[in-house]
Amino acid sequence: MVSFILKINSRRTTSYWTICVLFVNKKNAIKHMFLQCSSVITFWHEFYSWWTKNTNENINLADSERLYGLIQPYKYQQVLSLALVITKYFIYRCTLAQEPLLFSLFDLQFHENIFIERYIAIKNKSAKVFNDKWHPFILKNVYSIHLTCTLLPLPPPYSTL
Ligand SMILES: [Zn+2]
Repeated sequence: MVSFILKINSRRTTSYWTICVLFVNKKNAIKHMFLQCSSVITFWHEFYSWWTKNTNENINLADSERLYGLIQPYKYQQVLSLALVITKYFIYRCTLAQEPLLFSLFDLQFHENIFIERYIAIKNKSAKVFNDKWHPFILKNVYSIHLTCTLLPLPPPYSTL
């Protein structure tokens, strides 16, 4: 197996080909990278627990949903869709860079997206839309505490509720 990796590496200068023999060897490389590689399987387990911890919703996504998008209705459809896009970009980038799939890093990137939407919501004065969409991830989440991403203050009449 090592000699195979070395052979691949000598032919291709891009270093990511060394990350996983199966990834190089398999016809279905995309499926392997996003769903079947042992490190990605662990990552998905962490993703599911993270989702349940934040939303109290148990999910078990089909391969096609993880690859192409959601089919079933979920409680936080929009957020889950966005999380899946970020997940795949994260896995792809880690694979290219030959870096481990650290879930805490993914979580950080996910929260960066919340910050961007928060900024847009402030500019658009759409606090309620923002809060309704993101509240599971910015109220009770221990990861988010250090990121200080908070709910936006609502204009009247919501502020009096
Ligand atoms: Zn693999």
